[in-house]
Amino acid sequence: MNKTILLLERLGNLVQHARREDAKQLGLQPVHLQILAYLHRANRYSDLPIAVTEYLGLTRGTVSQSIKLLEHKGLLIKRVTHPHARKQHLQLTARGREAAAAGWLHKMRTLLEHEQPSSDQLESTLETLLTTLQRAQHGKPFGVCNSCVFHQRHGNGSRCGLTGERLHTDEIELLCREWQDAAQAA
Ligand code: SF4
Repeated sequence: MNKTILLLERLGNLVQHARREDAKQLGLQPVHLQILAYLHRANRYSDLPIAVTEYLGLTRGTVSQSIKLLEHKGLLIKRVTHPHARKQHLQLTARGREAAAAGWLHKMRTLLEHEQPSSDQLESTLETLLTTLQRAQHGKPFGVCNSCVFHQRHGNGSRCGLTGERLHTDEIELLCREWQDAAQAA
């Protein structure tokens, strides 16, 4: 068997195992931690139940039940940006953010910080693999705002060329469901 496939399978199993352990300690299911981790990185156009469904490939029913439970446990809140708006944005509470950033993700981040020179190359290879798999499954690409074709820099700030709205500095590092690869469009 191809060694890359074996390595990816092993890595996937290790991540699943670590996530199960983290979830058990918090009295949650692994899927709940996946939702918290996604929302921790999602921007204001992507913190919606439908985006969670798309990003994690889950059913609407699973996402809806999970959101109810996470809300009940005080890990997230629902908010609407306008009194007549129908879209409900999902916002992590301080406890939710803590749960999302801890555990195996924190350990992995610390490990990779010590491997910086080679991790750039690794990132680029994994990105190519991810794009290929997403295309094969016809999934939405999702991506980090500062590498999006619509991302516009204005002096010290940024703007989204798709919505016309200003973007805060911390938002350009977040995930977006409307993202389109700037490198592909060049
Ligand atoms: S620039 Fe792209 S990634 Fe950023 S908010 Fe706009 S559509 Fe989303």
